[in-house]
Amino acid sequence: MHILDILAASKPSLSFEFFPPRAPSAWEELYQTIRDLETLSPSFVSVTYGAGGSTRDLTHDLVVRIKQTTSIPPVPHLTCVGHTRAEIDAILLRYAEAGVSNILALRGDPPKEQPNYDWSQGDFRYAADLVAHIKKFNDDKRHPDPRGFGIGVAGFPEGHPATPNRVNELDNMKAKIDAGADYICTQLFFDNHDLFDYRDRCALAGIEAPLIAGVMPVSSTAGMKRMAELAAGARYPAKLIKALQRASSKNDPDAVERVGIHYAAQQCAELLDNEVAGIHFYTLNKSHATRQIYASLGL
Ligand SMILES: Cc1cc2nc3c(=O)[nH]c(=O)nc-3n(C[C@H](O)[C@H](O)[C@H](O)COP(=O)(O)OP(=O)(O)OC[C@H]3O[C@@H](n4cnc5c(N)ncnc54)[C@H](O)[C@@H]3O)c2cc1C
Repeated sequence: MHILDILAASKPSLSFEFFPPRAPSAWEELYQTIRDLETLSPSFVSVTYGAGGSTRDLTHDLVVRIKQTTSIPPVPHLTCVGHTRAEIDAILLRYAEAGVSNILALRGDPPKEQPNYDWSQGDFRYAADLVAHIKKFNDDKRHPDPRGFGIGVAGFPEGHPATPNRVNELDNMKAKIDAGADYICTQLFFDNHDLFDYRDRCALAGIEAPLIAGVMPVSSTAGMKRMAELAAGARYPAKLIKALQRASSKNDPDAVERVGIHYAAQQCAELLDNEVAGIHFYTLNKSHATRQIYASLGL
């Protein structure tokens, strides 16, 4: 189903993100997570794309398996890093033939071991270039749906670290929408004011695409530190840190997880009250926290 139909049918959309695990032993657990979460009837699920190498094929395999064995529309992520136009066309064609209807188009981050990565190694420099290429694929009628792929792009309520100038950043976001993107899915954030302000600033910049809010319940203090590294710039409000510190002083990992779930549930309640277009849960391939949040929100 095209993302615009999904968003029109589910107000708000509720969706989950998975990553293809490296260890073969983790796949059975992931399939169980997907089966558990399928009972919540998500609007769609998305699957991340690696920085390079063999994990990239795993994204395709997981997406096709979800498409073939569940009722949930899968949305593969795709990045610019290192790709030629011909490679991207081959990937798009495979997804089109498998009946996949939507793609999240990203720039991606340079591989960890190449901090001075040379973007001229691939044909695309910014996500907007990839969006424009997918749009051309759509216009050439290479997808069975006459509208082609629905196209999503990333948004950063706290700002993207590479563009400290927030005015320029919104210009860059607008370029992605003008190139053909249909919706925005945000990076995780822990202060809803960042999201509401970002939504308002997008509207003032003439960006009308639906904005899906990315939420990640903190499950452990180690996970929180890891995420601060991965989602560069993630800002944890003092209120959340205080609650996590209280829980972790008891040496009870379950208490920390409960705090993370409670905080995320409160965040989601306020997002729903303020009519976000959707909420996207960063599940880290686990179902427990998401199911708890659904239960506490009466979803
Ligand atoms: C929802 C979500 C899912 C993600 N999934 C993945 C994933 O699966 N795999 C992965 O590797 N990464 C993923 N990422 C991370 C993402 O790839 C990185 O954060 C990346 O640094 C930015 O990607 P982008 O698509 O926003 O890039 P862009 O929109 O290209 O922006 C990147 C930076 O360049 C700036 N910029 C854009 N255009 C121009 C221009 N013309 N001139 C100058 N500056 C410009 C922007 O302001 C921004 O600072 C995800 C992020 C989000 C929010």
